[in-house]
Amino acid sequence: MRVAVIGAGLGGLCLAQGLRKAGIDVEVFERDPGVRARFQGYRIGLADVGREALLACLPDRLHPLLDAVTGDLHGRRVFHDTQLRQLRELEPMTAIAVDRHVLRHLLLDGLDVRFGKQFTGYRGTRAEFADGTHVDADLIVGADGITSAVRGRLAPDLRPSDTGVRCVVGRTTLTPEFESLVPGFGTGVSDGEVQLMLGLMRFRRPPREAGLEFGVELPDTPDYVRWVLLPAPDVPGKAVEGWHPRVRALVEAADPAHSAALSIRVVRPERRWAPGRVTLLGDAIHATSPSGGNGANMALYDARLLRDLLVEKAVPEAVEEYETQMLAYGAQAVEHSVAVLDQFLPERAGPRS
Ligand SMILES: Cc1cc2nc3c(=O)[nH]c(=O)nc-3n(C[C@H](O)[C@H](O)[C@H](O)COP(=O)(O)OP(=O)(O)OC[C@H]3O[C@@H](n4cnc5c(N)ncnc54)[C@H](O)[C@@H]3O)c2cc1C
Repeated sequence: MRVAVIGAGLGGLCLAQGLRKAGIDVEVFERDPGVRARFQGYRIGLADVGREALLACLPDRLHPLLDAVTGDLHGRRVFHDTQLRQLRELEPMTAIAVDRHVLRHLLLDGLDVRFGKQFTGYRGTRAEFADGTHVDADLIVGADGITSAVRGRLAPDLRPSDTGVRCVVGRTTLTPEFESLVPGFGTGVSDGEVQLMLGLMRFRRPPREAGLEFGVELPDTPDYVRWVLLPAPDVPGKAVEGWHPRVRALVEAADPAHSAALSIRVVRPERRWAPGRVTLLGDAIHATSPSGGNGANMALYDARLLRDLLVEKAVPEAVEEYETQMLAYGAQAVEHSVAVLDQFLPERAGPRS
């Protein structure tokens, strides 16, 4: 069996690792010219479901490396006013922090990934690329994210919908001063119009150093504070003028190469096609709002589920069962992420019981 995976994001790479581990022939085709091509490096909170999927798909020899380059997230979630006076507190949470850029590097290890291959369409199970080349496979998996060209061909009327929320995601290298802003799982600071959400990415070991021990090239990413300002201001520094000096300093010290403005859009999964030899995975079919903290977790879970089914069954049966399960939990994940988006909007950040 030969599988062509379109898209080298977390979901596509996790699937490729899982198939390779199971001895199934797999190739990944990625539009970007390389893994460092553009802003990719935000922090992701991994829940058990995502971590277990990663462990199931990654070769056993890389499990300790995964552990070394993740970080612990636990404790209270507190909301402050602009002078860092506490307004309210949400129940504690626990998760594992992982940097998307570091994880992608780890997931690339040993895989056959073709960069610079923009998928444009398919005929049967022949995938076609913008450079005029094609590849024949027994199964094409569209893991090509929210703007999925595979979905555009398979279910052209299934499009992203805009929540109307815009945000700026930033990253500031961790210092003891900034670390004190996030004593628990996460911190929110708000003036009632703009909200700043802070979270830590503190690696157990520096990724580059840990990677070298395993023969894996990982980026030299420092520990950092991940912050999100929403709604997105034109100039992030201006939005926090008059706020506590530590908060202003954090936003002003952001690394512009790893900060970006984002529109929050979702894709609600619905089957608009007959199950066959082309399918979808991750954001390509169920893109969530980042507020749900579940998009990557679901993409990784999809990868594991599809891999397990392809090991057990013939392609058409595996795809049909995968899509039946995935469309159901994917729809729930999207609705959850939209429902909790409200919690992150400043109107609701004031004192609440
Ligand atoms: C700021 C932020 C914070 C987040 N935090 C969390 C979190 O805490 N927890 C969580 O679970 N999720 C989180 N998410 C969501 C998570 O990042 C995504 O759900 C996840 O990365 C989706 O993975 P994917 O593999 O489906 O798609 P992507 O990661 O989008 O990968 C798609 C890949 O396909 C490639 N591609 C696109 N078009 C083509 C084409 N035509 N041909 C070839 N290749 C193509 C792209 O270049 C890309 O590499 C967050 C998202 C954001 C933006």
